[in-house]
Amino acid sequence: MAYTKTWANNPNLNKTELKKLKKDGLKIFEDIPRYAKSGFASIPEEDFDLFKWAGLYLQRPKDAGYFMMRVCVPSGILQYDQLVTLAQISRDYGRNVFDITTRQAVQFHWLTIEQIPDIFERLEKVGLSTAGACGDITRNIVGNPLSGIDPNELVDTTDITREVYEFFQRNEDFSNLPRKYKMSINANVYNASNAEIHCLSFTPAKKVIDGNEVLGFHIKVGGGLSSAPYLAQTLNVFIRPEQVKDAAIAVTTIFRDYGYREKRHRARLKFLVADWGVEKFTEKLLELIGPLPEKGEDVHKGWNAGYFYGVHPQKQQGLHYIGFNVPVGRLHADEVFEIARIAKQYGNGEVRLCNSQNLVIPNVPTENVDPLLKEPVFERITVQPKSFIGYSVSCTGIEYCNLALVETKERLRRIAEFLDEQLELDVPVRLHMVGCPNSCGQRQIADIGLQGVKMKTKEKGMIEAFEIYVGGTLLNGGKFNEKLKGKVDAEDLPHVLKQLLLYFKQTKLAGETFFKY
Ligand code: SF4
Repeated sequence: MAYTKTWANNPNLNKTELKKLKKDGLKIFEDIPRYAKSGFASIPEEDFDLFKWAGLYLQRPKDAGYFMMRVCVPSGILQYDQLVTLAQISRDYGRNVFDITTRQAVQFHWLTIEQIPDIFERLEKVGLSTAGACGDITRNIVGNPLSGIDPNELVDTTDITREVYEFFQRNEDFSNLPRKYKMSINANVYNASNAEIHCLSFTPAKKVIDGNEVLGFHIKVGGGLSSAPYLAQTLNVFIRPEQVKDAAIAVTTIFRDYGYREKRHRARLKFLVADWGVEKFTEKLLELIGPLPEKGEDVHKGWNAGYFYGVHPQKQQGLHYIGFNVPVGRLHADEVFEIARIAKQYGNGEVRLCNSQNLVIPNVPTENVDPLLKEPVFERITVQPKSFIGYSVSCTGIEYCNLALVETKERLRRIAEFLDEQLELDVPVRLHMVGCPNSCGQRQIADIGLQGVKMKTKEKGMIEAFEIYVGGTLLNGGKFNEKLKGKVDAEDLPHVLKQLLLYFKQTKLAGETFFKY
């Protein structure tokens, strides 16, 4: 039975809400085969927004007829046949570009409407989907890329994440949310999923109940970045692993039914949580889900920011996971084919994608580690990256994104390589670059966040420039980075960063990190 859209009679709904009431975003899946036959020019303007529900955005420039496609990869876990299919799509349709996003998803570019049905078919055959990768719907679920193999996880979240993902996949009860809605489920005690920056996060916790220690989760709500960043707050409840799905449904129901639909810029869950406070939010949650025990013990031991470089023992004796750097998250289709082959030859074919835009090959027996590391593809995709290229995260930027003010990905790669040539540090420095305030590259949590802007100068007129932010972290509950005064001409950015980092190097103690806690 269809649920009641309690907001439908609100006289102040914004334009997007009125559009969504007329046609649910997921219905675009029914139209795409028809548009693929009739061509790009036949797509009505008002439908382009709905393409997001199918994981599709118009690529810049909007009238050129190319789409960007995002594919959901819950918890970043890919099987061999899935990775090969993604590599084939990149090669056959996406001009060999294969991007790993900060939500562990895969992104393609250069797709035409005629190609989309075949791509959907290929994805479906291997159990992948683009539904919900974009739009006002539950996005790809971020999780522990090491789930099931992680010596540092409290519980295995693989099946839990899959169950929640499958519940929300193409679920029309939850496909009309006030805005995008981001979830994470993680039990790695080093906060591998960046819990504080999502709308809803499940984090590892334990509690003594009836004399027995129970492993489970705490719930954080109301995090998010963009131009008004908020850190998620913890609700005073403890849930068992088998309750995660119900809790996710309850929080999402609250967002769907009470989230703001008047002004788009106030529609994220973070604004509702900020206005209600955690007590009222918890009351509402308990109304929906029934009584729950109060919070237990948070078992976080630190923050790894989603980095897993090097060779590490798994939970399973004799097996290893190996973390590799993918410079600014961009791979070439040929590299992806090679990585798939290697993962199958030396491991079990699985590859895991990280929110740091990197990757992990799991399940490698001891005797296979050395031969695997000698494979030529790992000269660029290295296990031991340098301090800057190894910790550089970038959004898509002006190359493809219609909202971008500046170029990002290639620029950050060049800057990181320049810094690695110019100075050596004994600690990594996390650089995040974004092309606009939407902050897909999560600049607020970086050691050094670089946000693109336009700047007018006397000599050169309007130019690309950057604001510099320093000192972001998610340790100890988190703190967003702070803006340094002024803006820097994009051309001067490498040298300004070099000076800043030289000062850091000269004044720091051995082993001291960029941000002191
Ligand atoms: Fe585009 Fe802005 Fe997101 Fe970068 S941060 S991908 S420029 S919307």
